[in-house]
Amino acid sequence: MDFHWTEEQNLWRKTVREFAQKKIKPRVREIDTKKKIPESLIKEMATLGLLAPTVPKEYGGAGIDWTMACIAAEELGRADISLAIPVLYLVEAAWGFIFSRYGTPQAKAEYLPKVTSGDAFLGIAVTEPEGGSDIVGAVKTIAVKKGDKWVLAGEKIFISGVAESRAWGGIHLTLAKTDPEAGHKGFSFFAIPLKENLQVKTTLLEDMGRMGISTGGFTMENVEIPLQNLIGDINKGFYYSMEGFSAARVLIGATCVGASEAALQLGADHIKTRKAFGRPLAMFEGIQFPFADHFVKIEGDKLLTYRAAWFLDQMYTKKTTTHHEVALAAAMCKLSAPLHAFAVMNEVADWIGATAYTKECDIEMGVRGVRSYSIGAEGTMNIMRTIIARELLGKEFLPYTQPQQDK
Ligand SMILES: Cc1cc2nc3c(=O)[nH]c(=O)nc-3n(C[C@H](O)[C@H](O)[C@H](O)COP(=O)(O)OP(=O)(O)OC[C@H]3O[C@@H](n4cnc5c(N)ncnc54)[C@H](O)[C@@H]3O)c2cc1C
Repeated sequence: MDFHWTEEQNLWRKTVREFAQKKIKPRVREIDTKKKIPESLIKEMATLGLLAPTVPKEYGGAGIDWTMACIAAEELGRADISLAIPVLYLVEAAWGFIFSRYGTPQAKAEYLPKVTSGDAFLGIAVTEPEGGSDIVGAVKTIAVKKGDKWVLAGEKIFISGVAESRAWGGIHLTLAKTDPEAGHKGFSFFAIPLKENLQVKTTLLEDMGRMGISTGGFTMENVEIPLQNLIGDINKGFYYSMEGFSAARVLIGATCVGASEAALQLGADHIKTRKAFGRPLAMFEGIQFPFADHFVKIEGDKLLTYRAAWFLDQMYTKKTTTHHEVALAAAMCKLSAPLHAFAVMNEVADWIGATAYTKECDIEMGVRGVRSYSIGAEGTMNIMRTIIARELLGKEFLPYTQPQQDK
């Protein structure tokens, strides 16, 4: 076992950190207020290889592994604790990878170079109005093959990047039923473009946080897409979605570690200088002890995250790790890191006092942003617990019949 970073990993972290601290951090409040990531920043991210970096080089990606992808996620989370830019980054990194792995050559050639250059958005659309956790029970969208088209009808909701996809172009990887009687074995994944698509009606929601990236929904009224937009094999969409969720959850772990470290640093800077009762707050054990506890917990989340990234890398390169090991490791990241990031931010807000309740202080953006991940984006906390229990106890103890990752 070797806990050292390689030279390449150190250089990548340094490069991303310098860019993120210099170019992103000073603009986070502006992004939160204007509810938009500046185009110039998107282009600079593209130049650095930060848009869908896990996509192979032939499609304009950087072809990096999951450890490297997590390093970048951590640095973006450190710079933007509102999490808008990290969300853009991780959604495209996780789902762009799935598209590059299973999409048709024609569809990949059409969309991926635009995604990696920042001229199009790539998102994921699974959740529907009847719920996001129970995919088999709640997803009602139907896809039917008619001649040389797939025709989709249904509604997706709480989808990240709807406004971006509508404005820039791009696709949402969209889960639909292709064999309604077959349970989780009857879903397929499709690339749905939202821009200038008259058969797709979009709506936008007013979010609580991560204001720089939109959340919304779209309704498909017999939307016709070419056959090439089916992603991978028919009726394998559920498995592809589970594979993408695992990768996204590991990146969320890294993002939350970076945001937690930034928040704790903000707190440390404050408690060392703010005086009460004649001495710095940092001299009171009532402040020191939770500071130490949070530091240890962040280090724990970091270990969970990079171990999970290592599992992903092993699975995709050496095939020595199974989907089950990855799903378990990813669920642990997603359960622990967002809840703890939220706790760190609340604690630091306490140390900072009244200023933390104002927009003078970045911590309020962090509290609002990270809540998206503890409430449910890329899977709720209870679903993470269910996955962990399933992997440890056996799937015969699942409270429902949904044998995920059983391919
Ligand atoms: C900011 C944001 C962005 C999002 N972006 C996307 C996106 O880009 N694409 C996309 O497809 N979706 C997206 N989502 C939706 C997200 O995936 C869902 O919110 C999530 O899956 C939960 O679904 P739900 O909100 O319908 O809650 P429900 O599924 O209705 O769950 C409600 C509560 O019941 C609990 N629960 C459910 N089943 C069980 C069980 N078996 N045991 C114990 N407790 C259970 C859940 O943990 C939760 O606390 C986003 C959500 C948010 C908040």
